[in-house]
Amino acid sequence: MILANRSADKVGLYLRLSRDDGDKAESDSIHSQRDLLMDFISRHRSFRFKREYVDDGYSGTNYDRPGFSRMMEDAQKGIIDCILVKDLSRLGRNYIETGRYLERIFPSMGLRLIAVNDNYDTLDKDSSDNEIVVPFKNLINDAYCRDISLKIRSHLDVKRKDGQFIGSFAMYGYKKDADNKNHLVIDEDAARTVELIFQYRLNGLSAQRIADKLNELGFQPPYEYKRKKGLNYNSGFKSADKAKWTKDTVTRLLGSEMYTGTMVQGRTKRINYKVKKSLPIISEDWIRVENTHTPIIQKSTFELVQEVAALDTRVSPGREDVYPLCGFIRCGCCGQNMVRRNTTSCGKKYYYYHCSTYKAGGNCTAHLINCDKVDQIVLEALRKQIELLDKAESMIAYITENKTDRSGLRVVGEQIEKLKSEIDHYGELKAKLYRDMVEGLIDRKEYEEINGRFDASRSKVEETLHTLEKKEQVLLNNQLKFQPWVENLKRYQNLTELSRSVVISTIDRIVVNDSKNVEVHFKFEDELNEIIQYVLAEEAN
Ligand SMILES: [Zn+2]
Repeated sequence: MILANRSADKVGLYLRLSRDDGDKAESDSIHSQRDLLMDFISRHRSFRFKREYVDDGYSGTNYDRPGFSRMMEDAQKGIIDCILVKDLSRLGRNYIETGRYLERIFPSMGLRLIAVNDNYDTLDKDSSDNEIVVPFKNLINDAYCRDISLKIRSHLDVKRKDGQFIGSFAMYGYKKDADNKNHLVIDEDAARTVELIFQYRLNGLSAQRIADKLNELGFQPPYEYKRKKGLNYNSGFKSADKAKWTKDTVTRLLGSEMYTGTMVQGRTKRINYKVKKSLPIISEDWIRVENTHTPIIQKSTFELVQEVAALDTRVSPGREDVYPLCGFIRCGCCGQNMVRRNTTSCGKKYYYYHCSTYKAGGNCTAHLINCDKVDQIVLEALRKQIELLDKAESMIAYITENKTDRSGLRVVGEQIEKLKSEIDHYGELKAKLYRDMVEGLIDRKEYEEINGRFDASRSKVEETLHTLEKKEQVLLNNQLKFQPWVENLKRYQNLTELSRSVVISTIDRIVVNDSKNVEVHFKFEDELNEIIQYVLAEEAN
């Protein structure tokens, strides 16, 4: 990061533009480079401008440039003590040579270099382990991503409040609209994965189990996915081992309100310009604007997941006040949540649910119902369902054989296609890399190193593909005995009391019309009904 408080009295600006390198005319123009750097100096009192050096029309693939030579002479004479560039690729596009300047020549001359847009400062010893990686990475970024945008710092809050997306990367599941970069549109592939994650969670899986499952299926984690979508060399840089879904990633996605179509921004605050570290802002002060983009997850689903998450962390195991049905009970009149309360009568505590609209003084009645009674009804309904399922075992076997695990098969099939195209993609990257070597953009050594990484990544993908193809075969062979939801229900065969996990994995919602009329809706209700109808018909015969 840039150590903005470490002063530099004699700053030299280095500006370079070459169409041959594929620089973007407007954002890379000498004029805009100068503006950016002067703006940086004007915002930092510790920096003082001395001279500027321009190489207009000189390629970055070598250091044989008049402006650069003049600058080095001045540095030797002590006329300047710090070089400011827009990004490292302005300095040069030859990775090895540039690395030599950054790590040996400049330091030995006591010359400091700051690449503003890369947030790179040779004085920063914090990132010593990144000393080689950072310039390398950034150069490759610049040479091949070509999507570095000028950072717009003013009016950012205005844009945020307007619900305009101002981040550099869209949240996993979305992408920037090609016609309007402040607008998000759904990224179909990733969105389906997001849906799957929420579905898994509602089926009672923990974040860790979800992460394991996604890894097992060979889904790319968001970071990796983003890189791959960017179609750049960086995809070869992240070692494939690290590219795993983690509990934290899953938890973060499950907690992101962005998926409900609400734009949430301004959650952190940068300490100062370009410093990567930022401070969190309390959630009340986040800037939230509803309906700015298409939701991936319904609001009600999202809220339920948050409730479950909050409950899971709040309720310590073994405590008595665990109420498994929390968040599942709806008022039959107004559709709102029923909340749990207690009263004490004659020294005895009674627990009951009542309508939250009524509680808030809204237009509904109490719909008072005893907690134990609801538990009893739900437990009874669950038992009946399982009993019927038991009777339907042969029927289920039949259905399973014919339908197999359709959704599972679909997911695996799609993954296989994706992995195949990924393998093709590595082939293309390798070809491109080879061309770059032939054209002299990179040398043999660099070629071999990057090419080696591509090979490693590709064989990792091929390995996953192989596993998935086997899995697909298993699914096709009907070796999967029951559909997951059936297995899930059957686990609870001898149920004597409700637990949170039972409720989460089996119950969709409970509707309280009045104390004598309670509807219990199950997950997979349609599938269940199909089977139950069949069983009942069989019994009648
Ligand atoms: Zn109500």
